[in-house]
Amino acid sequence: MIRVENIRKTYQMGEVEVRALDGVSLTVEQGEYVAIVGASGSGKSTLMHILGLLDVPDAGVFEINNTDVTKFSENQLAEFRNRIMGFVFQQFNLLKRTSALENVGLPLIYARNGKKSDVPDKMLDLVGLQDRKSHHTNELSGGQQQRVAIARALVNNPQIIFADEPTGNLDSKSAKEIMQVMSELHARGLTIILVTHDANVANHAQRIIEIKDGKIVSDAPNPTAPAVPKMGVVEEPDVRGSGFGLQSLFEGLTLVKQSIRSLNANKVRTALSALGIMIGVAAVIATVAVGNGAKAAVEEQMSQLGSNLLMLMPQRRSRGGVRQAQGSVSRLSLADAEAIRTEVDNVVKVSSTVDGNAQLKAGNLNWSCRISGVDPDYESMRSYQPQLGRFFTDEEVNSRAMVCVLGVTPVRELFDGANPVGQQVKINRRSFTVIGVLPEKGSAGFRDYDDTAFVPSSTAMRRLFGKDYVDRIEIQIDKPHQMERAQTDILTLLEMRHRTASGTFEIRNLAEIQDAVSETSNVMSLLLSSIASIALVVGGIGIMNIMLVSVTERTREIGLRKALGARGSDIMSQFLIEALIISFFGGCLGIALGAGVGYAAQRFANMTVLFTHESIYMAFGFSALIGILFGIWPARKAALLNPIDALRYE
Ligand code: ADP
Ligand code: MG
Repeated sequence: MIRVENIRKTYQMGEVEVRALDGVSLTVEQGEYVAIVGASGSGKSTLMHILGLLDVPDAGVFEINNTDVTKFSENQLAEFRNRIMGFVFQQFNLLKRTSALENVGLPLIYARNGKKSDVPDKMLDLVGLQDRKSHHTNELSGGQQQRVAIARALVNNPQIIFADEPTGNLDSKSAKEIMQVMSELHARGLTIILVTHDANVANHAQRIIEIKDGKIVSDAPNPTAPAVPKMGVVEEPDVRGSGFGLQSLFEGLTLVKQSIRSLNANKVRTALSALGIMIGVAAVIATVAVGNGAKAAVEEQMSQLGSNLLMLMPQRRSRGGVRQAQGSVSRLSLADAEAIRTEVDNVVKVSSTVDGNAQLKAGNLNWSCRISGVDPDYESMRSYQPQLGRFFTDEEVNSRAMVCVLGVTPVRELFDGANPVGQQVKINRRSFTVIGVLPEKGSAGFRDYDDTAFVPSSTAMRRLFGKDYVDRIEIQIDKPHQMERAQTDILTLLEMRHRTASGTFEIRNLAEIQDAVSETSNVMSLLLSSIASIALVVGGIGIMNIMLVSVTERTREIGLRKALGARGSDIMSQFLIEALIISFFGGCLGIALGAGVGYAAQRFANMTVLFTHESIYMAFGFSALIGILFGIWPARKAALLNPIDALRYE
């Protein structure tokens, strides 16, 4: 069954070469019960690990069932470990916080055979643990734990059992019981290879091989072996499941269950690593919602303007990066506005506009906001019909009257929301009478359209800001199709009035303004969401850190799983699934948090927010992607561990 010839294994310890195995040859037939004995350090474990396919020899011939196993791939080795052999270790190597039954069932997962789910039960009966099946392994005595390990070794109906000092950690009574179980297994026809330094233990075997310094010094039948009646012959091992259809679904679910269990065992750590993803996803969702909200609000504002508005302003001083000569700036005046109103065809309404900021004061309350000097036409052009009181008249513009119409925000800040009409308010220390309150316009992004006050354009120029020019002139044309014609007429008129060349003034129609505004809000959204994505990446790095720690911490567990027949891909999937679960979990919480932040922004900061399906899918997809991307490295690291190095890891 097993044939090795001239096997060598040398360990390099710095400068020193340790010849753990120095030309070992032996054959083991099916049904034999062999004990390998020798002093500590003689190479017993090394030999057993090689025979058990946990380690590879440096040189020599090695055949199992007439198959050369020295050229086996990782997966073939895993399959043999899973199917043909069972291991019993000195340190039991059971999963903690896991029931005896589940420990015994572990090799079945890697056998891809869900149909044999009653086998672990039977195996526990066989080793005499009927009444301890659902106990966690840490609630069992040493002897009982070793019996669980034996049941686990038997679960895939193996041909050979390898036991390395199975009684080394047990008291003499438990040791005797374990040896009893071993003898029974032998009686059932199993091949047993047992490693021990204890002559009493070795005496249970039928054949004793003694090793010294990596060489076999004696190999003989044991004359004092207890006679064991043969009870039967072991069946051929089952064929490994193909891993398709329902089978792989079962396998996937088992892996998910395993991952949830190990994440559950480290709740705080799992929660902390999910936190990073949660914050990242929340940031993305909230910023995208605020960005979309701002865009929607701007578009809403724009759509109220009507499509027949024009905006006239002086051309910016530098064009194409070349600064024009001094004094080339022409400024617009109130007279220009009047000329446009009277001389250009199809112009219905005109308003000069002057912008600035000012300090408002009512009683002992202060508020600073944007002040616009406008003309009475502005009211209907921009749908600013006051909700309380009235807008100012031509008369008041002509007389530079000290009157103002307040937006909702200054009313709230200065008058606590009470009706301010008829009250006095100081704007830059000059007394104004409040004659109206503007309708609510809402906000877009960080801009509050209600945080404003209107005064007559003439008053703003002369009495507030000390300017003799207007910043821009807004013009309403009768019909949209007259727009182009009006645009040229206005520019010609102004160039004539100012005696300047073309290009001094600039006219924008609504579509152009809209484009400019949405471009800025797009850039803003992009900027915000890229900052938010950085948070996501940082969250991913957090997951990676935790997974790397977890791989290191669970090295022995990984070694054990490999010894039980897990392939590299099984280990990889397990860690990837864990990373995915963390980021999925963080993603869900992040969506909730992001929605919460968005609603809070809407409710308390008065921002318009707009949640879209896309942003939620995107955040979700992102967190899954992050889980995979940042999980791959730790998962690969785990998958590539050599079984025996991992098992030995302290
Ligand atoms: P034992 O007979 O006690 O089971 P081992 O097979 O474990 O002995 O070890 C045989 C020799 O190989 C010892 O001298 C040991 O120090 C050495 N050895 C075993 N494993 C390693 C290793 N991973 N690295 C270096 N030396 C090792
Ligand atoms: Mg040993």
